[in-house]
Amino acid sequence: MISKKVLVVGAGAAGLIAAGTAAENGAGVTLLEKNQRVGRKIMITGKGRCNLTNNCDVQTFINNVPVNGRFLYSAINRFTPSDTMSFFEGLGLELKTERGNRVFPLSDRAVDVVDALRDYVSDSGVKIVNDAAQALILENGEVIGVKGESRSYYADSVIICCGGKSYPLTGSTGDGYILAKQAGHTVTELKPSLVPLESSDPECKSMQGLALKNVSLKIIDKNSNKELYSDFGEMLFTHFGISGPMVLSASSHIRDIPPDTYTAVIDLKPALDSEQLDRRLQNEFRANSNKDVSNSFSKLLPKKIIIPVLKRWGVPFDKKCNAVTREERHRLCDILKGYTIPISGFRPIEEAIVTSGGVKTGEINPKTMESKLVSGLYFAGEVIDCDAYTGGFNLQIAWSTGRLAGENAALS
Ligand SMILES: Cc1cc2nc3c(=O)[nH]c(=O)nc-3n(C[C@H](O)[C@H](O)[C@H](O)COP(=O)(O)OP(=O)(O)OC[C@H]3O[C@@H](n4cnc5c(N)ncnc54)[C@H](O)[C@@H]3O)c2cc1C
Repeated sequence: MISKKVLVVGAGAAGLIAAGTAAENGAGVTLLEKNQRVGRKIMITGKGRCNLTNNCDVQTFINNVPVNGRFLYSAINRFTPSDTMSFFEGLGLELKTERGNRVFPLSDRAVDVVDALRDYVSDSGVKIVNDAAQALILENGEVIGVKGESRSYYADSVIICCGGKSYPLTGSTGDGYILAKQAGHTVTELKPSLVPLESSDPECKSMQGLALKNVSLKIIDKNSNKELYSDFGEMLFTHFGISGPMVLSASSHIRDIPPDTYTAVIDLKPALDSEQLDRRLQNEFRANSNKDVSNSFSKLLPKKIIIPVLKRWGVPFDKKCNAVTREERHRLCDILKGYTIPISGFRPIEEAIVTSGGVKTGEINPKTMESKLVSGLYFAGEVIDCDAYTGGFNLQIAWSTGRLAGENAALS
């Protein structure tokens, strides 16, 4: 039997697994990658540790995909998080599961994930070519190849795995959307997700670099008083606003940021209720009774946030601790339990962990990942209009859609 020729564009998470899968299913596979090295984005995932999936069931998985989760039912059922774990373990990569079912390589090295995938594709007989796809070659409603920078490549099927538009230095510069549009596909509005948040509060800049650990964060819609997000953990002040793990997660719960709508509310002392905090303040002021209030916070707060808190409090910096009134103390408690930061916008898409938006899911067959518009054309990974919360879900989308596209491109 003459084997099918499959061309995979993009050697990221989706492309590597799609290429290996198509080859395992008997296709002659060429994998086109414009970077010198494959899997550059995988290298920086999970702060260099690669949170490669979330060890959860299919329904929990879908619940963690706020945009077009239902589209993924077939793909995730076909290649579940547990299949992903067995797949990588089968490649010799030992894994561990951490808090929140997040799965990492035991070595804590994302490079080990890339190495395992690179060995997988080369052992499966995939030919990796260093070239950038520029356009699809289409004929009578079918894709018959791809025009690269150096030459044209012909194939029976083409799988587009070019990723999104975020962190463009890794190679994800949005080329997949151009190729999809050329084939007549709709690309929905592209927006940043899992992205730092900007604030108009100038104090953020003065606190730049301050990482708060063990605080709680809420995002409140000021108009409806509705709570959009609440979590406990780590966050960071930056020159433009706020960032860090909780803030990135919070951002994916917000779709748009109309002016003057959202406020981040930080509880700087979540382990203490208001009464306990008030007692703590009384003790602190008693211990420093003849000192200025501005010199009494060193045991209570990180240095960089003391002046911003004092400014909000409005008590003169040189007021003596023993002169602080009960009402003033209560006001301080409220500030510490609900330090507010107005949110003015998202950082640009280039700084986002994932791109929200992409090739319209209604134009892709969810059972095969084949285009409903152009025969032989497939999509996998972030290029599709699906995005998830943090926790290994986004890479799992790449593995599952890549697996499904690879199988179908080889067999159909
Ligand atoms: C800092 C950071 C941390 C992250 N951490 C995690 C995490 O821990 N867990 C998680 O689940 N997700 C994480 N993500 C998200 C995850 O990395 C992506 O969702 C995932 O990599 C998408 O895979 P992909 O294969 O679709 O695209 P990509 O991994 O972006 O791969 C696309 C590939 O296509 C290539 N390419 C593009 N255009 C062309 C062209 N014209 N010709 C040839 N090749 C081309 C690119 O060079 C690239 O290699 C993180 C993202 C970032 C930015």
